[in-house]
Amino acid sequence: MRLANKVAIVTGGSRGIGLAIARRFASEGAAVVVGDLDLEAARLAAAELEKLGVGAEAVKCDVAQTEDAELLASHALNRFGRIDILVNNAGITRDRLLLRMSESDWDVVIAVNLKGAFNCTKAVAKTMLRQRSGRIINIASVVGLIGNAGQANYAASKAGVIGLTKSLAREMAGRNITVNAIAPGFIETKMTEDLPESVRQAFMSRIPLGRAGTPEDVANAALFLASDESSYITGQVICVDGGMVM
Ligand code: NDP
Repeated sequence: MRLANKVAIVTGGSRGIGLAIARRFASEGAAVVVGDLDLEAARLAAAELEKLGVGAEAVKCDVAQTEDAELLASHALNRFGRIDILVNNAGITRDRLLLRMSESDWDVVIAVNLKGAFNCTKAVAKTMLRQRSGRIINIASVVGLIGNAGQANYAASKAGVIGLTKSLAREMAGRNITVNAIAPGFIETKMTEDLPESVRQAFMSRIPLGRAGTPEDVANAALFLASDESSYITGQVICVDGGMVM
């Protein structure tokens, strides 16, 4: 029960990495608010979490919209009275080589992946500053560190998330709020299931541990960053990538 009495918000928490994080947090005693575009999917996730004996709430939220992010935070505060942990996990891809990448491919990826993290962090910041404690965990990507052909928009958004992480870590440290990022490598989720076999193989050949990651691998790192055990760690990027980037 490493997160007993804690309240967590997980964006994009109804499937994939976000759902694995929500499950892991709930299994350690945290109440979890799942924010997702798809309310039905978020409700299903919240119902599953409640079976673990914790409070859970589903909120329809497009993280790219400022008002939605504010609504997500106020739901958490109204229902549970505090916010201890925010996981900025919601993310999308619109992969194309530069000359084929439209302005809207660029804009929507930056809006969800980067502005979404800004919106949600801003929405919880007042509460965490007042509480004088908090944990913010941003799900970045190894692509934000090393780049990837065909993902200029996504890589830029994830590199931006890393800059956001480090700046806010400095800004909020004085109030006992830590801000860290996780950079997953190749993780088996809906986001990666449609990749062509050649791209999959190219990724696999670069993973020293010789396997794709699971959402649970990422969730374990998130649990550590959310728990008291990481209280002296802030502004860091932890790669969960089987050794792909080192
Ligand atoms: P999935 O596509 O499986 O899940 C993403 C979740 O985010 C979905 O539930 C989706 O909801 C939700 N979502 C999308 N857009 C929004 C939005 N605007 N507002 C709120 N929720 C939204 O992806 P993963 O689980 O693989 O990815 C999770 C995070 O991990 C992302 O930030 C991704 O960039 C990052 N990541 C993933 C890697 C991988 O290999 N899978 C590698 C590195 C990083 P809906 O179903 O309604 O669309």
